Formats: sequence, structure tokens, C-alpha cells
Amino acid sequence: MKGTFRLSGPASLEADACIVGSGAGGASVADVLTAAGLDVVMLEEGPNVPAEAADGTGGEAIPRLWRGAGLTAALGVPPIAYAEGAAVGGSTEINSAIFQRVADDMLDGWAREFELAEFGAAALRPYYDRAAAAVNASLTPGPLEPPSRILAEAGERLGWKVSALERGQRFCAGTNMCSFRCPTGGKQSMSETLLPAATSRGMRLLAGARVERLLRRGRSIVAAVGRATGPDGRTHAFRVRAKRFFVAAGAVHTPALLQRSLVSRRAGATFKLHPTIKCVALFDEARDFHKFRLPLTAITEFMPDQRIGGSVMTPALLAMGLAEDWTRRGHLMERWRQCGSFYGMIRPKGQGRVLALPGLAEPLVFFRLAPDDWRALAEIGARLGEAMFAAGAREVWPSVTGAGPWRSVGEARALADGDLPQARTNLMTIHIFGSCRPGARPDASAVDGFGRVWGTDNLVVADASLIPDAPGCNPQGTVMALAFRAAEAALAMSDREGRARALGEAA
Ligand SMILES: Cc1cc2nc3c(=O)[nH]c(=O)nc-3n(C[C@H](O)[C@H](O)[C@H](O)COP(=O)(O)OP(=O)(O)OC[C@H]3O[C@@H](n4cnc5c(N)ncnc54)[C@H](O)[C@@H]3O)c2cc1C
Repeated sequence: MKGTFRLSGPASLEADACIVGSGAGGASVADVLTAAGLDVVMLEEGPNVPAEAADGTGGEAIPRLWRGAGLTAALGVPPIAYAEGAAVGGSTEINSAIFQRVADDMLDGWAREFELAEFGAAALRPYYDRAAAAVNASLTPGPLEPPSRILAEAGERLGWKVSALERGQRFCAGTNMCSFRCPTGGKQSMSETLLPAATSRGMRLLAGARVERLLRRGRSIVAAVGRATGPDGRTHAFRVRAKRFFVAAGAVHTPALLQRSLVSRRAGATFKLHPTIKCVALFDEARDFHKFRLPLTAITEFMPDQRIGGSVMTPALLAMGLAEDWTRRGHLMERWRQCGSFYGMIRPKGQGRVLALPGLAEPLVFFRLAPDDWRALAEIGARLGEAMFAAGAREVWPSVTGAGPWRSVGEARALADGDLPQARTNLMTIHIFGSCRPGARPDASAVDGFGRVWGTDNLVVADASLIPDAPGCNPQGTVMALAFRAAEAALAMSDREGRARALGEAA
């Protein structure tokens, strides 16, 4: 991407604004600031991988584009595996680009509960529209493909509502490589949309640059400092001075950076995710799900509290799932063309936290499920099994070590009647948020309703950390909407301050 560069020696840069992180939040901020004519430097820890350089295999892409090579977990009983992208474009380079909006009544409820002005459904609608337009959120043309048909048929037979899912796409070729950096550019990730638009307006995007700290003088942030990896693999110190700073390093790394920089004591205290239980369904004949797009339908009957959907399916990802209980499940690899991977996700009542510790490059992440969450997971796990049998599965293997196979709806339903074995239930998530919850009071929130970090004058959080609570739907659209809004508010605020200063000087 034009405008992206790497360092071959130590560097000191100056700009009107500095953005940390180039994912859904950072790219949306860049769009607003560069359109307003600001000189912007963006710092991104991960590499720049253009579509033509995408290898398209998990073995190559996961270590290159996924944080920690995909080995990241929130500690607790059980640990919950979570995934994040670390690349130019952030998690949007490895996500499925499904675009959903938070239900209006939930947005209005958050506005009331967290006392957020101009936050309800009506206030956010234009920002969602802008996000949808930026990624061309649209339904996939043509008949439903086999993975999508599984959920559609299950819903039809059980009388459960099924919805077709919009996604960010333009001429998607259906390579099924969304998780590994789309090789055709059909997936409308940030590196295909808002980032090239911002660099074409002059933004400088430094890739391979990890921000270690923000330097503070009084209420102002004066510089971002860190180390960047050059083309020869050597690292170099950098410092970026700017008038305004936007942190969009994602729900784990934004609070970690604020903690390391000693600018917020509340950042990281309200981390949320969507706990997700999975299953492998075995069908009688080869279904070859790996040849198609991931399921672009979902069972939405139980939303927003629970949802059933399907995952990207490749032989390698199936093997990773089966490895959780390989002794009992490894034999399914012999029939991998008959297997599909589906999930049930919940909106939890439990909460976690992010903790940056001195000397550790990666923060510690914790999540504690509430008793209600266990009940909800057992319920959605049973419903997931029921849906698979309704779609014709012969066996269903829930992601509970030692459990299964279920061979009947009755066996699946028994899950909802009993207790899930907590230490043996394998949970995961690809949706993380809420770690810098906005609010009206500095003693109860990390940032104000527009993402401004309490106690600072020029520091704004603009990413998934800002979503006040688990939304029960795919979060990228909301991340973008909130980041557009935070960036616009920061500009409007500094315009007002500028005018007030000018009036003061004239008087
Ligand atoms: C596998 C997967 C599938 C998903 N599918 C969907 C989907 O279909 N639909 C949907 O709505 N959502 C989906 N999501 C979630 C969605 O991608 C995220 O909610 C969204 O991208 C979050 O945006 P963000 O800006 O908060 O963080 P990110 O997009 O993760 O961007 C943060 C960026 O900051 C960088 N960074 C972190 N720390 C530093 C530092 N110290 N210095 C410099 N840079 C730093 C990271 O490397 C990263 O590139 C999925 C996520 C994953 C992982």
C-alpha cells in the first residue's frame, strides 16, 4: 500500500495526529482525520501483507497475521481461547467481515445505563451507515452454498428464525480464505478500503512498529515511543510527537498501553467477550464445506442473548479443533470431507480484565464466567446439537473433552439438563470488547462517552474497547461506528478550543 513504510534506523516523526493500531477502529479514525486535512502518522505493530502476497494457507498465515500465532487465551476456568489480528488492517484481515448492527433497544439501553449522551440508536445510525458504506456491507448474491444451507434447513425444520448475514465484500470470489488474508481483495478489510484512502491523502503508516508507551506532560500526551522492525529484521527506536493521540490497538492492547503509560487506572477493568461453544457435526456423505464460503446464515431466533452460526472450515482448522480431544476424535480426520464446524455463542453476564505487568511484552487477560453463563452455554450447546441433527448430522461432537458423540437429539438435550464440566469445556471467542467502558464519571469509567481518556486533554480511545457491553452480534460495524464518532468529536472539540483561544487572544 502506497504510504506504508518501515524503518531502517532510529526515527523521530511529527504530525498533527498519531493513531496507534490500524484495525477497524484505527482505520476509521484515519478516514475522519485525513478527510479533514490533518497530517497523520499511524503506527501498526504487525506487518503489511498485500493481497498478492497472501499465501492462503493457515500454516503460513496464522503465525504471520494472528497475534501470538493464534495462541492467546483469557485465563480462568476454563481458559477461553481468543483470536486477534496483528497486521496492517488489524483483525479485519483475518475476520469473516460479517456486518451487523447492535439492536436499537440495546443501544438506547446502554445510553441510559452508562449515562452516555448522543449515544442511542438514532445518534449512532449515521455512523453505522458510514461503516456499512465503507465496507460495502451486502448480502452474498446467488443461491445459498452448502455450509449456509445447513443452518437454513435446521432453522426451517425446527421453526427457528434464520437470517442471511451481510458482509463487507466486493466481488467476493469465494476462496474461503477469509481467515488467512483474502488473496483477491474481495473481502473489504481495512487494507482494501479505509487505509489506502487515508494514505492517498498523505497519511504515513509505519508497519512493524510497536508502541511501548505514551509520554505525558501534565494533562497532555506529547509523544508515542516504541520499537519498529526494519526490512532487515533489526529493530529501531522511534518517537512520534503529535497534538492528538488516538489509541486503537484493540480491546486487549489499548488498555495495556494505557496502563503501561500510567494514564488510566480504570482501563482494562471491564473486559468482555462472547463465550462460544463449538461442535463438529459428522454427516453421512462428503459435504466438502472447505470448498465454499463460511456459513452466511445464522440461527437468530435466540438473539441477542444466544446465536448459532458456522465457522470457516478447512481441513487444518478442523484438525486444530479435534486436537482438543484427539485420542477420542482424531479418527474423524479420516472422514474430514463429511465434517462441519458450527458454534453457539452467548452474551455473558461475567466479566474479565486486562493487566499489563512490567517485564511482560503481552498483557495478562482474565475472564470469569457467571453461573448464568454456564446455564446459557449448556442451553445453546444443546440447541446447537438439535440444529445439527435437524440438518441431517449423524453424530455431533460438542467441544467438551470426553463428551460425545451425541447420536440423537435426546443426548444433545441432556446437556441443557445437566451441568457442563467447567474444566473440560473448551470455549473460544473471536469477539472481544468493553475494556475501556465509556461513562459519565471518571471514578466509574475509563473514558467519557466520546472515548476521551479521563484526566487527559488530547488522548482518545477509538476501538472495540469502547463498546460498553457484549453486543450479542458481530462487533466490527459497531467498532467502526464508535471510532468515526470519537474522531469527529475530537475534531469538533479542538475546533471549539481553537476558536475559544483565538477569541481570548483577540480580547
Ligand atoms: C478470526 C476472527 C473473525 C472475526 N469475524 C468477524 C466478523 O465476521 N464480523 C465482525 O463484525 N467481527 C469479526 N471479528 C471481530 C472484528 O474483527 C473486531 O471486532 C475488530 O476488528 C476490532 O477492531 P479494533 O480496531 O478494536 O482492533 P483490531 O482490528 O484487532 O486492530 C488492532 C490493531 O492494533 C495493533 N496493535 C496492538 N497493540 C499495538 C501497539 N502497542 N503498537 C502498535 N500497534 C498495536 C494490532 O496489531 C492490530 O493490528 C472477528 C475477529 C477475528 C479475530
